[in-house]
Amino acid sequence: PSPLSTWALNVSPSPTLAVDAKAKALKAAGEDVCGFAAGEPDFDTPDHIKEAAAQALRDGKTKYAPTPGIPPLREALAAKYADVYGLETKPAQVVVSPGGKFSCYLTILALCSPGDEVIVPAPFWVSYPEMVKLAGATPKVVVATDATGFKLTPDMVEAAITPKSKLIILNSPSNPSGAVYTREELEAITAVAVKHNLYIMSDEIYEHLLYDGVTHVSPASFSAEARERTIIVSGFAKTFSMTGWRLGTIVAPTPIATAIADLQSQMTSNATTFAQWGALAAYTEWDKTKAALDEMLVAFDRRRKLVHAGLNAISGIDCQLAQGAFYLFPNVSSFGVPDMEFCSRLLESEKVAAVPGSAFGTEGFLRISYATSDETLQKGLDRLARFCGSL
Ligand code: PLP
Repeated sequence: PSPLSTWALNVSPSPTLAVDAKAKALKAAGEDVCGFAAGEPDFDTPDHIKEAAAQALRDGKTKYAPTPGIPPLREALAAKYADVYGLETKPAQVVVSPGGKFSCYLTILALCSPGDEVIVPAPFWVSYPEMVKLAGATPKVVVATDATGFKLTPDMVEAAITPKSKLIILNSPSNPSGAVYTREELEAITAVAVKHNLYIMSDEIYEHLLYDGVTHVSPASFSAEARERTIIVSGFAKTFSMTGWRLGTIVAPTPIATAIADLQSQMTSNATTFAQWGALAAYTEWDKTKAALDEMLVAFDRRRKLVHAGLNAISGIDCQLAQGAFYLFPNVSSFGVPDMEFCSRLLESEKVAAVPGSAFGTEGFLRISYATSDETLQKGLDRLARFCGSL
């Protein structure tokens, strides 16, 4: 018998991290790789946030923090949800965790038991189904292709609901498609969830990365019933270029937030103390944060358009113009090559790293991250065009 547990045997390692690691290894070996696989901004963390963390270290903020987070950060986050999204939020509803990923896992663990079903829209962020399985629950994947802009319709949600359904995961803006639900679309899905007493895990980690003037809305803002059933997860990684800091957030009705903090108290104690003091500066010095964010958004928007045009100029590729995050999700099914094979041949022959759509539950697509320089993007597009021409 295997020495490994059911959990270890059943979990699939993150395919996005694997492709990115392979690309980085090729690069380290001296290859000229165009990396479109990384889910992280290519910008550095804004200076005022780094300086606040450095100051915290100098001030001896090097001890355990309260499990749910340092009080001023929980207060700042509660104020943000109240001011920006109009959601009256008490600090007791806020938990700071070591990363958006862990925020998702804690939420799923707090809500799901063996036997429960979780509706996971595909294309999904790779970790959702694995986290559901790690909680002993069952992911119920519902695929939305480019035919519906990679978004679920209320009918698709209705059709997936069974008496075992406990939770639905929503992620707008989406990784990997970049799709953003409109308020009306989100309201309609939230209404279905509320009608069937489902909880909603709304992963809003890309909340600030929006283009074409679209604005972010949270399902929690639609009604009192929706608020009682929605857990908002987010984090500092994507918006503030803080991927290595490992800081995530959760906003939930107080009893759920308390349960999440209790789980965290046994699993990791608290998110790194001085990192939290650094993150606090993102809010206390919001003008500087906003300036850094705006600069990043200008670059992302330019690259989004560059990559979108470049992809659609390649015969056989069809790519929608997504309005959020830093990903595009082109359809490459016309080449008749399975996407896994497409990506490994692309990396081998042209040294372009992209993640296959099937890693996200949607075969026939690629995820292109445009969080890299314009120059690398253009070079990668040229190589991709040459590769597609050879198929
Ligand atoms: N949720 C989504 C949709 C993501 O894309 C990511 C990162 O790739 C995360 C959560 C987790 O982010 P982190 O754990 O780096 O805060």
